[in-house]
Amino acid sequence: MFDILADLFRQAAPDEIDKIIYLSQGQLLPPYRGLETGMSAKLMLRAVADASGHSVAEVEKAYDNSGDMGDTAEKLLSARRPRQPVSLFDAISEPPRAETVGEVYAILMEIARTSGAGSVERKISLTSDLLSAVSPVEAKHISRFVVGKLRLGVGDPTVLEALAITHGGREHKQELERAYNNCCDLGLVATTLLSAGMDGVNRMHIRAGTPIRMALCERVSSADEIIARMGSAAVEAKYDGFRIQAHITGGDVEMFSRNLERTTGMFPEIAEALLAHLKAESAVIEGEAMAFDEITGELLPFQVTIQRKRKHDIGEMAEKFPLRFYAFDLLYLNGEDLTGLPFVERRNLLESVIVPNSVITTSEMFITERPEEITRAFESAIGRGLEGLVVKRPDSGYTAGARNFNWIKLKRSYRAELSDSVDLCIVGYFLGRGSRAKFGIGGVLAAVYDEEADMFRTVTKIGSGFSEDELADIKKMLDVTALSHRHPRVDSAIEADVWVEPRHVIKVTADELTRSQLHTAGRDETGTGFALRFPRFVGELRTDKRPEDATTVREIVRLYEMQGAAAP
Ligand code: ATP
Repeated sequence: MFDILADLFRQAAPDEIDKIIYLSQGQLLPPYRGLETGMSAKLMLRAVADASGHSVAEVEKAYDNSGDMGDTAEKLLSARRPRQPVSLFDAISEPPRAETVGEVYAILMEIARTSGAGSVERKISLTSDLLSAVSPVEAKHISRFVVGKLRLGVGDPTVLEALAITHGGREHKQELERAYNNCCDLGLVATTLLSAGMDGVNRMHIRAGTPIRMALCERVSSADEIIARMGSAAVEAKYDGFRIQAHITGGDVEMFSRNLERTTGMFPEIAEALLAHLKAESAVIEGEAMAFDEITGELLPFQVTIQRKRKHDIGEMAEKFPLRFYAFDLLYLNGEDLTGLPFVERRNLLESVIVPNSVITTSEMFITERPEEITRAFESAIGRGLEGLVVKRPDSGYTAGARNFNWIKLKRSYRAELSDSVDLCIVGYFLGRGSRAKFGIGGVLAAVYDEEADMFRTVTKIGSGFSEDELADIKKMLDVTALSHRHPRVDSAIEADVWVEPRHVIKVTADELTRSQLHTAGRDETGTGFALRFPRFVGELRTDKRPEDATTVREIVRLYEMQGAAAP
């Protein structure tokens, strides 16, 4: 994959490298921009019919047989018949020029941006014109792209490494990664690299309006270890809600979730409060939104907060379960990137710009050098129904996109359970037996993410913890991305009955981690990896996580090392 991409990048001009990267990842723009072509399989069949001169019924039949839009388009366009006008009043337009990446990209953008009255017909006709202008094999890949099924399996780290190889050498990968963490736009990083070199990349800073990859927490097993590592520690309550990165610029607010999706529409009251109560021209603030009970003032569980995801009744939800926003970091203020400042300085600035009100407040925080104070705060947090603590290194900068010991989470641990739940990516499933046969699914094969190799490696099979309804829903969800073979980014020694694209992340708990030859996560030279013992689904689909945000191999190794250590 590196070699193929590197070869491609070598030939790309500065004004097309961004498009090549987006397209190879099946996108038109960086994912946070959320732009899609808006062409369903049904509309695509009409476009293929129009471009190939076949009837819609013929195209449908070919699609039913192959199950793949690309193969269908290639086959029918190889046997092109003269195009028929869709209605008597239509003239057949001249195919557009679609010889270069730039030309094809421009048409795809036009398809995506067409909206409003008559847009469906216009999208179909633009797509059909594009298919008419290219060869059958080109039409195959374009068709898959248009319906969102390109599936080349090119992950972000792979793109970064290939870029480093072609422009400057592998040793520059970290600089590219840093720039990417600051802007979440691989295309922008690549364009900057080609037009302004590595110096230009190193000058890329965060900006309000463009999401920043979020800093993440490491785990440790005791308060003593925290103080041993940090000396002095900033101790905060850990709110089990919904992480928000809010960007405020020129009277406008934009919010991003943990996986960098725009979530502004979900939190109207927070947007309003930020505009009304923030003493800043522009800012990027991070915090956690939590639903609370207005009468008792009690914070409510994650399951209640997450109900905001149901987009249609936000107004009703906002009334029933109002939210409070606990701001815990300030990354940018009035045109200045603050991520290089020590945490305590950012925190002081945060407190100086927020006027506390009924919606926004700063997170609870104190600084200590004594482990017993951390333990006391932890117990008090648990007693109040919070998840635990997040402890931060007072002199550390904000490390975008990194999981390191600058932030440490301490969570409630149950006896005889793993000290933390894990978030696993589903890579396949097994057909049910016995009472589950009627569901067509008995359990799932789940994997952790290997950051170094940009691969998903299995760590367990899970059959427990699912209700019957959940199983049926999960099967429906997985069947959308079912594959006839193992996905190229999945490493597994076990054969799933049905392979799926690594896309969905679920929260899982287990009794312990063991060494095992059955699974590929963290395998050593003897072929022994790690496996979860008695895993169970805890009822949560982590829709706020991308597959690459699943628990990593490195974290599994860390959890294994921590096993058996006393609770904090
Ligand atoms: P991770 O984000 O580490 O991958 P996760 O999404 O499963 O894991 P947790 O492991 O529960 O979340 O812990 C980290 C999360 O805790 C942060 O992403 C943030 O949403 C939340 N959080 C709650 N309170 C705080 C706080 N005071 N400071 C930082 N993060 C906090």
